Amino acid sequence: MDNKLIRRIPNMNTLLDREEFRDLDRERVKRAARAFLDGLRTSVASGETDEVPSANACARGMLSLLEEEDREGMRGVINATGIVLHTNLGRAPLGEELYRAVERIYSGYGTLEYDLESGERGSRCAYVEKLICELSGAEAAMAVNNNAAAVFLTLSELAKGKKVAISRGELVEIGGSFRIPEIMEQSGAELMEIGCTNKTRLGDYAAALDAGAELLLKVHTSNYRIVGFSGSVSAGELAVLARERGVPLVYDMGSCFTVDPELLGISGGGHTARSGIESGADVICFSGDKLTGSAQAGVIAGRREYISRMKKNPLARVVRPDKLTVSALEQTLKLCRYPDTARKCVPVLSMLSLGPGELKRRAGELAGRISAAAPGWTVEICPTADEAGGGSLPGVEFPGWAVAVEPKGMTLSELEEGMRLAPTPIVLRLHESKALISPRTLMPGDGDEITARITELYNGISG
Ligand SMILES: *Cc1c(COP(=O)(O)O)cnc(C)c1O
Repeated sequence: MDNKLIRRIPNMNTLLDREEFRDLDRERVKRAARAFLDGLRTSVASGETDEVPSANACARGMLSLLEEEDREGMRGVINATGIVLHTNLGRAPLGEELYRAVERIYSGYGTLEYDLESGERGSRCAYVEKLICELSGAEAAMAVNNNAAAVFLTLSELAKGKKVAISRGELVEIGGSFRIPEIMEQSGAELMEIGCTNKTRLGDYAAALDAGAELLLKVHTSNYRIVGFSGSVSAGELAVLARERGVPLVYDMGSCFTVDPELLGISGGGHTARSGIESGADVICFSGDKLTGSAQAGVIAGRREYISRMKKNPLARVVRPDKLTVSALEQTLKLCRYPDTARKCVPVLSMLSLGPGELKRRAGELAGRISAAAPGWTVEICPTADEAGGGSLPGVEFPGWAVAVEPKGMTLSELEEGMRLAPTPIVLRLHESKALISPRTLMPGDGDEITARITELYNGISG
């Protein structure tokens, strides 16, 4: 060990007193200094370093540790994948309009349970419930934490200790940890599987009712499609049977629009909350952050008698949404009252309504900027099949366009990593030898950041 070198390592206090750390929390700077100096001592002691860095260089090392700390935890990213409800990237983006509307509530106090007219205690979800009823045509509604909670609460209240008939073709798994049969079991309902994986008939449900079923459950197969010899019974047909037999029909729609997608120019189908209620289902439930385009939430809507019972269930408190969720859901649904506003201000709806013509124009414009930033790289535009994602419209392709970038002087995976590790990380798709950047899922200003990052990476490699 070289003691002379060790003695030349700057003293902690001289580092702490430097100008660049003056406005930072003293304890935080101390921690960075300690980590930096410990690392330095270890590498000097092991002989790995044979020169002690200057005080300036030590300060730079500390700054980079502090920046690393800033980057820990969840971060905002640019989604250039063209997958609108990207599960790993937080499903629905909420957009500027909503953010401006709730900023004050997020940063300060709000009327969560306060009635301004009377100055007395108010109801947390009254307004969001009113909006859900207005948009879906339901008699009553409630909001919970997510759709898994909505299904769980519904079955716990309406089917505990009872037999529930469900088609074998609808015993789905959504994501890693949500399986319909398991959630049913947890709720205390007794599962009665009927029909076959590919085909279930109305007669199968009637036979289940004969055998003691007290509730019919229909689940939208959100993330897969059976093609070929297959068939299921529509919610409308089930509702008729359920009414005849005096049992409730619960319809887990998974993902649905609260505005008619046709009015927004969104092709590819997809249910609306209104169609679920109009089918005659007694209770419907769906996610707030799939095609509804809002925050993570679960929506339950339907007959007043059932919703009132669920609200009184102690589990309702366990799964109740917080003020951030309630305010975000309220604002989204408020925007969804008017289709033109919805298309403009709810990002999920804007993104899905973009047609190939407009996307081609945007891709062309971005490609022009990228090729100016990286002369010599191959930058083209190509048609793509974008997706709604998030287990919402399986098998439906949204024709789009992307910028296809093939770098020179760095590998494709180096480019991908360089984009991913940008100050604002950029997530893109790789296809064959190209990196694809899809304008469909870019938010305002993202194109500038992408171009700036490509400029940095390009300059990094060309000197
Ligand atoms: C997505 C989905 C769920 C779970 O909803 P979360 O909001 O993710 O909890 C339940 N059922 C169906 C049919 C779904 O598509």
